[in-house]
Amino acid sequence: MHYLVTGGAGFVGSHVVLALRDAGHSVVVFDNLSTGHRAAVPPDVPLVVGNLSDQALLNTVMENAKFDGVLHFAALSLVGDSMRVPFTYLRQNYLNSLQLIELCIHHAIRRFVFSSTAALFGTPEQQPIMEHATVNPGSPYGESKFLIERVLHWAETIYGMHSACLRYFNAAGSDPMGRAGEDHRPETHLIPLAIDTALGRRPALSIFGADYATADGTCVRDYIHVTDLAHAHLMALEQIETRSVTYNVGNTTGFSNLDVIRAVERVTGRNVNWSWAGRRQGDPATLIAGSERLRRETGWIPRIAALDDIVETAFRWRLTHPEGYAAPLPAMSPATGMDMPAIPLGADFPLPGAAEEFYRPASP
Ligand code: UDP
Repeated sequence: MHYLVTGGAGFVGSHVVLALRDAGHSVVVFDNLSTGHRAAVPPDVPLVVGNLSDQALLNTVMENAKFDGVLHFAALSLVGDSMRVPFTYLRQNYLNSLQLIELCIHHAIRRFVFSSTAALFGTPEQQPIMEHATVNPGSPYGESKFLIERVLHWAETIYGMHSACLRYFNAAGSDPMGRAGEDHRPETHLIPLAIDTALGRRPALSIFGADYATADGTCVRDYIHVTDLAHAHLMALEQIETRSVTYNVGNTTGFSNLDVIRAVERVTGRNVNWSWAGRRQGDPATLIAGSERLRRETGWIPRIAALDDIVETAFRWRLTHPEGYAAPLPAMSPATGMDMPAIPLGADFPLPGAAEEFYRPASP
């Protein structure tokens, strides 16, 4: 199959591009590189640099290649940020997606996979969160994603477009073979920040909120390995051959912010220098996925489910990419003054446990 991947230079998008190619599909990436990285796109994958708002460009891309489906990741994606500039989030995410979906219908593209979010549930009363839980977004970011889910509902009802809305919980980790990783600028996510703090690349980490109604007072999140998440997209693509689906995608296990810090300390063998800070606006106390529907209907199983294993893949990528995608792989110790074991350039990473067989592509 031939797929267009918007936002394919970003964190989740780039891992999905790898999964699609490992499965034998061909891909074109459309990305404005505002948060994504050119180097995150494999060199032999065509990259169109452009804004989703540029309908003429998108139209040309769709005219020139006959896509079997679109996977749509490109979006503003920070909960806290969306509380600061709500209308930017609502406008950009919603309008860009609406236009993209309209164009797909115009070009008779009948398969659409949408990167939705757990943030559309706000502060749910019941955990884990099932697909039928009440939608009540706690932030403009979550709201913008829900609006797009509604557009897809009407795209199916009226035009017969099949879509998969995948509501991600907390994507983390990096490609187990070291081909891609997480590089946000600025970085706002807990795991990469805690790793950088452990490595001494950041002086300290703030933990936002000590007074949530959770066991240790900090927020609880369901961390899902980004490669497992990418595989959920492949499973969803099979499902939408015949119908539209909505899935919550997570591990069904919650870890508090303090659990994450302890995991990073275990994996890195170093202390994380952290201190308390006030709550971050828009953060719900607990988000744990009920992913039974996805497992039951597609056979999806998370292969890298243990938090330490997820953190380990993120840590390994950071060791070989201390500047993220900004620089070629440097030798660690001289550049940073850290006494980390140097991992040989291009080294094939050992995969955690059961993931070994599953995630190694048949042909290198
Ligand atoms: N968090 C934190 N300090 C940071 C970054 C994040 O305490 O510097 C917390 C954040 O408030 C939330 C959890 O870590 O409770 C996960 O946040 P992240 O931004 O990683 O993902 P999100 O849940 O917002 O998608």
